[in-house]
Amino acid sequence: MTNTTVTDTIHTNAEAGDVEAARTEAGGSTVAAYAAPAPKAPLERTTVPRRALGAHDILIDIAYAGICHSDIHQVAEDWGPGIFPMVPGHEIAGVVGEVGPEVTRWAVGDRVGVGCFVDSCRECDSCRAGLQQYCTGGSGAVFTYNAVGRDGAPTYGGYARQLVVDENYALRIPGALPLDVAAPLLCAGITLYSPLTRWGAGPGRKVAIVGLGGLGHLGVKIARAKGAEVTVLSQSLRKREDGLKLGAHDYRATSDPATFTELAGTFDLIVNTVSADLDLSGYLGLLRTDGTLVQVGAPEKPVSINAHALLVGRRSLAGSMIGGLPETQEMLDFCAEHGIGAEIELIRAEQINEAYDRVLASDVRYRFVIDTATI
Ligand code: NAP
Ligand code: ZN
Ligand code: ZN
Repeated sequence: MTNTTVTDTIHTNAEAGDVEAARTEAGGSTVAAYAAPAPKAPLERTTVPRRALGAHDILIDIAYAGICHSDIHQVAEDWGPGIFPMVPGHEIAGVVGEVGPEVTRWAVGDRVGVGCFVDSCRECDSCRAGLQQYCTGGSGAVFTYNAVGRDGAPTYGGYARQLVVDENYALRIPGALPLDVAAPLLCAGITLYSPLTRWGAGPGRKVAIVGLGGLGHLGVKIARAKGAEVTVLSQSLRKREDGLKLGAHDYRATSDPATFTELAGTFDLIVNTVSADLDLSGYLGLLRTDGTLVQVGAPEKPVSINAHALLVGRRSLAGSMIGGLPETQEMLDFCAEHGIGAEIELIRAEQINEAYDRVLASDVRYRFVIDTATI
């Protein structure tokens, strides 16, 4: 495993020289970005506006942006119509470059991250409980891209040189975490940390992670660090060596029918990270009595299950979406304490489209991260 100890290279605009960060008339700026101009179209270099700093806004000089499979789903409109041009990216790590006049939480130079949402109503029960991702006020949480902000303007994500965000929606990246391997924690990390915590992954508990991709590999690391006994359920044994190095105790191929007979009734918790539709009934059969299968993968097609797979053993099927701000900070601190970062392949911006193809082919070990200085 590589890259977990690399030193940060923080690219400021001043260092990069020819960055397009021109001031607009309204006092905002225009920043270089990579966008899909239309559904399913290849991403290309462009510029997008960033708003002028409000009283509580910070400007982040983005250093790295992870490529999440959700980026690919949204460019392809797998989940419904998108807003174009679309600048994906919700695994953002960088450094505070400017602060608004009333900002109290941050200073220039602080290392920060932004995940899947940049605002929410702040008043509903979910927001008050720190579960901003489940905001029920207005039209819900404002996602980092492919959404409309509370100012009515479209949001543009992290495949860009800079981002302006409310100070309350940024997270502190601990000094022990290099920014490049920290970026994927902002979505993939929290998406696994949250269900593993809620459903009690820990000593004496058997946990299976389905799919060893961006989410799955962090699930293995986090579940292991929490003390659980971890099994990877992957399409084949191709990545077995890696899975065991990442911390799995066992690694099984789901293409082998014996996996489903030998492991029947074994797990307390299964987290399914697969981006495609699977026959979940077979996986439910791997749960012990009262076990839970948590769906975090977000395929295009509806999930269908055989009711008997739930009834037998009083099993539960649950879902989980990223995590709220307090839990995301807790996750970053946990990862820093346990030396957990993503296994990454750092790419230049012009490799984004090739990286998308490789993610779709399950050819990723285990997260592509864009060096945004190359945009
Ligand atoms: P990824 O890196 O592509 O990993 C997905 C893994 O699923 C692949 O590496 C592969 O693992 C397995 N897989 C892919 N196609 C498969 C198929 N046809 N049959 C069986 N297994 C298959 O994707 P990711 O970034 O981890 O995201 C995974 C999913 O989670 C996406 O749908 C994404 O949108 C969703 N997501 C949800 C949340 C949330 O909050 N709930 C957050 C982020 C992402 P093996 O090769 O090991 O089989
Ligand atoms: Zn994501
Ligand atoms: Zn709310």
